[in-house]
Amino acid sequence: MIESYDFLKAVLDTISKHIVVIDDKGNIIFANKSWGTFGQDNECSIETSWNRINYLNECDKAAAMGDEFGAKAANGIRSVINADESDFYFEYPCHSPEEERWFMMRVKTFTLEKTNYHVISHQNITERKQAEEEVLSLSRIDGLTGIANRRYFNEFLENEWRRCNRLASPISLAMIDLDHFKLLNDTYGHLVGDECLKSVGQVLKGVGKRPNDICARYGGEEFTIVYGNTNLEQAKVLVNKILNDVRLLNIPNKQSPTLPILTISVGLAEMYPSNQNSEKDLIRKSDELLYLAKERGRNRVLF
Ligand code: GH3
Ligand code: MG
Ligand code: MG
Repeated sequence: MIESYDFLKAVLDTISKHIVVIDDKGNIIFANKSWGTFGQDNECSIETSWNRINYLNECDKAAAMGDEFGAKAANGIRSVINADESDFYFEYPCHSPEEERWFMMRVKTFTLEKTNYHVISHQNITERKQAEEEVLSLSRIDGLTGIANRRYFNEFLENEWRRCNRLASPISLAMIDLDHFKLLNDTYGHLVGDECLKSVGQVLKGVGKRPNDICARYGGEEFTIVYGNTNLEQAKVLVNKILNDVRLLNIPNKQSPTLPILTISVGLAEMYPSNQNSEKDLIRKSDELLYLAKERGRNRVLF
């Protein structure tokens, strides 16, 4: 029996990873010292006293309470016990009320005296995860304006499209282009132009801040906004506010034949995602309306 392997246990006790060893049925037959501290300082439903506890049952209980990570862990452990997989690992959040934390769980089988055991280790990977998330969020941001870039906009819209398709909800999309921006650059210089782009970015950020909305810099002086689960009537109100807020910035563009201040034109379209259309159709529709808004005198929204 594993109880006789004092040497092995002593070694596992020196490891900072939180380790339990289970048998084929999921019964915990050993937990290292570090395991105790793991249970004490997290809010996850993992028991601190491991004697006579069945690890798989604990995961199943968590899964039954709606914990998707409990279900994933249980499936993974079973796949290793059944030798469907040689090992299993996954990363999961385990946030305490004070801090965000991430762990990585690994499961691997070893054999002692012709009996299989499975080592389950949990390692704190918060630092790595935070670094990864920071890099990820930087890769999604436009360097000049600080709002989302086109790549993230595309990713967001694709997901939102699928979500609204499932919910049979509408998506509204606004394509925004600054009016006579070349004249503004020519008159006041490129750096002033850059400041204008930042200001417009801030206006967009201030309108439509729900989790299913995103505003992004689409290209040089073009911006776009997605309003998820929002119909045309609701989106019109938001876009009209943007048009007005940009005028209220009162940024001079004295050579502009539209108005002597910075204005924008907007194409606003709404679609119900289905299997017969795609987000590209919505972008095209908004683009066409933007073109018409320019033709009809700028400083307006067309829908
Ligand atoms: P319209 O009303 O028809 O849109 O006229 P416009 O002058 O805005 O359109 P056009 O496409 O002719 O010019 C766009 C200008 O936007 C040209 C370019 O110099 C400027 N622009 C694009 N990206 C940037 C940027 O990052 N910074 C600055 N300052 N200007 C930019
Ligand atoms: Mg343009
Ligand atoms: Mg323009």
